[in-house]
Amino acid sequence: MAFSAVKGQTQIKIRLAAEAQRRGSGAYMLTGPEGTGKRMLAEEFAKALMCPDAGSDGACGVCPNCKYFDNFTTPDVTRVYEPSDTKNVKVDFIKDRVVAESYLKPQFARTKTFIIDFDYLGEESQNALLKSLEEPRKDVVFILTSSNTDAVLDTVMSRVTEIKLDTYSEDELEEIVRLNFPDLEEEKVKSAVYNSGRIPGKAIELAREDSGVSIRHEINKIMTAMPGSSYIDVLEDFCEVLTGFKDDSKIIASSILLFLDDAARLINYPGCRRINNELDREAIENFVAVNKHITTLKLGRCTDAVKAFTRALEVNANFDAAASAMLLRIHEELKK
Ligand SMILES: [Zn+2]
Repeated sequence: MAFSAVKGQTQIKIRLAAEAQRRGSGAYMLTGPEGTGKRMLAEEFAKALMCPDAGSDGACGVCPNCKYFDNFTTPDVTRVYEPSDTKNVKVDFIKDRVVAESYLKPQFARTKTFIIDFDYLGEESQNALLKSLEEPRKDVVFILTSSNTDAVLDTVMSRVTEIKLDTYSEDELEEIVRLNFPDLEEEKVKSAVYNSGRIPGKAIELAREDSGVSIRHEINKIMTAMPGSSYIDVLEDFCEVLTGFKDDSKIIASSILLFLDDAARLINYPGCRRINNELDREAIENFVAVNKHITTLKLGRCTDAVKAFTRALEVNANFDAAASAMLLRIHEELKK
């Protein structure tokens, strides 16, 4: 990966690549709203600083330094991102792992780099960094990011070179969404971009929700077809569909549960006003109407099968095995 793998931000990428080639020391602060790609740019910039063959597109991607960087095994890059246990990074961590380290020479690369997300730094930690930011060693670079510069001390801002991220064009946003969701329909790509406020992270989130809707639709098709299907249909065709959504196993499970819930409601209250899958209402109503043998008791046992599937995946069971076991149990309950 190099700068060209990051979409948009053309001027900033040119600038960062040039700074990396120049190998000057210093402190940079990438700023812009959450979801604008600051961290990706910070990572690419750090990688370019590590790479002895960095060019106008940043790191070469193939040299040992690039490999170490990609494997998170270089001692010359320190990342300070969101802590797992507390709201903010502890000041002792900043003192020991950043301030103290920043006085040491890099071990393999020509530059030692610290990437620090200031969104997780309290005032005390920011103060602890002041001296290091002001006079870094000639082979040390600080790459800071912030989505809210109001929370950054003025004394910090005055010591860093601020690089404000540009807004993204609609074309760039569409490209980003397509890259992440290659199968998403054109219309949904456009709507995700339109509602994103020009923030790529938001566009991706919206596209993910939309792709969730399409998983639900596919699941509903399988479920309505289940009673009339054969054992082979289940093991071959239905399993294949689920495998295609493997990375979204939670959406698979919740979609089946929502379907079962809708079917139970329509059995108990025919024509009931609000169901989970309004978009597929006709198909589900038909499913209930033509399959009089399906009772809420049977649907309840199908729910148990979905819960077993979720539990199996939690303990890292093989996806295909867990999915086929679930589908076969559901088939057993719903078949004619
Ligand atoms: Zn390289």
